Amino acid sequence: MSALAPRVAIVGAGPAGIYAADILLGLAPTVEIDLFEKLPAPYGLVRYGVAPDHPRIRKITDALHDVLSDPRIRLRCNVEIGVDITIDELRAAYDGVVVATGADLDVRLDIPGIDLPGSFGAADFVAWYDGHPDAPRDWPLAAESVAVLGAGNVALDVTRILAKHAAALTHTDTPDHVLDALEASPLRDVHLFARRGPADLRFSALELRELAEQHDVDVIVDPAEIALDEHAERMIAQFSQRRIIVRTLTEWAARDQSIRSASRRVHLHLRQRPVRVLGDDRVTGIEMERTASDGLGRMVGTGELLRYDVGAVYRAIGYRSTPVPGVPFDTENGVVPHAEGRVLGEGGAPLPRLYATGWIKRGPVGLIGSTKSDAAQTVRHLVDDLAAADVSERDADPIAHLTDAVDLEGWLRIDAAERGAGAERGRERTKIVDRTEMLSHAGQTHMTEAGR
Ligand SMILES: Cc1cc2nc3c(=O)[nH]c(=O)nc-3n(C[C@H](O)[C@H](O)[C@H](O)COP(=O)(O)OP(=O)(O)OC[C@H]3O[C@@H](n4cnc5c(N)ncnc54)[C@H](O)[C@@H]3O)c2cc1C
Repeated sequence: MSALAPRVAIVGAGPAGIYAADILLGLAPTVEIDLFEKLPAPYGLVRYGVAPDHPRIRKITDALHDVLSDPRIRLRCNVEIGVDITIDELRAAYDGVVVATGADLDVRLDIPGIDLPGSFGAADFVAWYDGHPDAPRDWPLAAESVAVLGAGNVALDVTRILAKHAAALTHTDTPDHVLDALEASPLRDVHLFARRGPADLRFSALELRELAEQHDVDVIVDPAEIALDEHAERMIAQFSQRRIIVRTLTEWAARDQSIRSASRRVHLHLRQRPVRVLGDDRVTGIEMERTASDGLGRMVGTGELLRYDVGAVYRAIGYRSTPVPGVPFDTENGVVPHAEGRVLGEGGAPLPRLYATGWIKRGPVGLIGSTKSDAAQTVRHLVDDLAAADVSERDADPIAHLTDAVDLEGWLRIDAAERGAGAERGRERTKIVDRTEMLSHAGQTHMTEAGR
C-alpha cells in the first residue's frame, strides 16, 4: 500500500452506514472516512422509524454515537448526495464509496380508491409521529374508526400509536405538535387486517403482545378467524415464534367480551385482503375479501366480501428505497444491484469503488442488528479492493466547499438543545423537528464566534 491513508465516503448515517464505518476502521485502521447524511441529524430509521414507545431500541443510538466519536470519521450531515455533491464526484475523490441510504417510501397498493384523501402510507405517518424534518406538521386524526393493512411490525407500530392515549407518550421524545394531535384524536376503533392466517403472520411475538398491554385499549379477536388449518398446524409445530403468536391470539379470542370496557379497541382481523377503499371525495370505508389457505400457505380469495365503515386507511405493507442519482437501481426489486456489496453496472460487472449496504442493498427487511452482518460482508470486499488500489495521488479535501454541512459538534449542539427542551418538560429529550431550527442550533457556536 502507498503512504497515503485510503479515503472512504459512506452515504447515509443510518445504522448500516455507521456499522460499516465501525467495521471498516476495525479492519483497516488507517482509513479516513467521510460519513454523509442528508438530514441534520444522524441515525436514520433508529431516530425516524423506531416507535417512540420503544426506548430500549432507540438507545442503540448510544452505541452508534460511540462510533461517530472516532476521530477518523468526519460526520457531514445536511449533505444530500445527488444534490449537494454527485456520486461521480465522490467516486473521483475517494478510494471507495459505500451507499447506505436505506428506505423511506411506502410500497404502493394498487386497489381502487387508494388515493382518496384519508388513505395514508405508514412511512408518511411514522415520519410524522417520529418528528422527521420533511414530514408535514399537521396530521388529520379526525376519524373515529380506522383501518390498518399489514401483517408485520410496522403495522403493529402504526396500530399501537393510533390507539395509544397521548398521555402514555408524554415521557418520550415525541414532539409537542404530535402529542397535541394524538391527544385530540377522537379515535375509538382500529381495525388491523392481515391477509394471512394466524400461523403465517410476520409480527414479532413480543410486539404483538404489546398491543394488549396498553392502558385503556382492548384487543378483540374473532375465534372463527384464528381457526387452524392443516398448514397452520404444520407451521406451529415447526416454529416456536409462530406457536407463541397463535397462543397469544387464542388467549385474546377466549376473553369474555362482556367485560371489555376500554374507550379504544383494536380489532385484529385475519384472512382478509383489501379489495377497494370506499368513498367519493374521502375515505368512508373499506371493502375486504375473505381469504383461505390453498393448503400450502398461499392465500386465495374466497369471493366473500365484507365492508367496514372507517374514516381513514393506513397501508403498512412495506417500505421501498429511493434511488440515488448516479447509482444503478433495480426498480423491480427496489435495491441496488450488487454482488456481496460490490455495486454492479449494466453489464453485470462490479463498478470500481462503489459499494452498497443496509436496506438499499438487501431490501427493506430485517432488524437493526442485521445491518451489522450485512455491512461486514460489504466492508470485507471494500478492504480487499483498497489493498489492491493505488492511493498515491489525490485532490485536496474534496468536501471543503460544503460549508453548510453539520459536523459531529454541530449535531451534538442539536442533541444538547433537544435534551434541554426535554428537561423543560421533565423528559430526557424532546425532538426538534424544524430543519431551520435544527440548523440554527447546529451553528450556534459558529454564529457566536462570528459575532464576537
Ligand atoms: C417504522 C419502522 C420501525 C422499525 N422498528 C424497528 C425496531 O423496533 N427494532 C429494530 O431492530 N428495527 C426496526 N426497524 C428496522 C430498522 O430501522 C432498519 O433495519 C434499519 O434502520 C436499516 O438501516 P439502514 O441504515 O439501511 O437505513 P436507514 O435507517 O433508512 O438509514 C439510511 C440513512 O441514509 C440517509 N440518506 C438517504 N438518502 C441519502 C442521500 N441521497 N444522501 C445522504 N444521505 C441519505 C437517510 O436520511 C438515513 O439517515 C424499523 C423500521 C421501520 C421502517
